[in-house]
Amino acid sequence: MPNTIQASPLFLSGNVALDFINTQYSENGIDKDVLANNQSVISWLEQVGQLKESPNVIPIDLMVISKQLRTELKNIIDQLLNGQPPKLSAFNHLLDEVQFLEQLDWDNDNKKFILLKKCRVKSSLSILEPVISSMLYLLTHENMQYIRQCEASDCVLYFLDLTKSHRRRWCSMSTCGNRMKVAAFRERKKKQ
Ligand SMILES: [Zn+2]
Repeated sequence: MPNTIQASPLFLSGNVALDFINTQYSENGIDKDVLANNQSVISWLEQVGQLKESPNVIPIDLMVISKQLRTELKNIIDQLLNGQPPKLSAFNHLLDEVQFLEQLDWDNDNKKFILLKKCRVKSSLSILEPVISSMLYLLTHENMQYIRQCEASDCVLYFLDLTKSHRRRWCSMSTCGNRMKVAAFRERKKKQ
């Protein structure tokens, strides 16, 4: 892959779909992509605890479909953050292909119902169903004003601000937060 180095996944957004978008990022000016091949998509789902069952055979188009899904999710979030009405047809087209099937299950330990989501068709998209469900939940149940992008000018990472004060500005305090604080300090010094 040209100019793209395989990277470690970042789990800092507080949401599976946003973490999925964050699989493509830039570090020290170098583009990184966690979804470098089919196996790395499976590993990512495993690490985020969203691999429902290990597929016997990994669909050959898993990485390609994953990146396509990622682009669609990113487009919707970007349009939202830019105050534009999101264009949903491409995402809805993917939903069409997933063919969700909802089934009811009973959790006897906790005495409550669980809604199971299954897919009619076994495909790359059905493996990615947890990401799609997370996106649907994010857009319909979470407060959209808490979906943010890191304020560092060179950072592309998204997160859901789940802090009490809802004043989270950085993907991570230890990286961008600190970096930007140091930069602001230097800027102030220069002006003195
Ligand atoms: Zn950042």
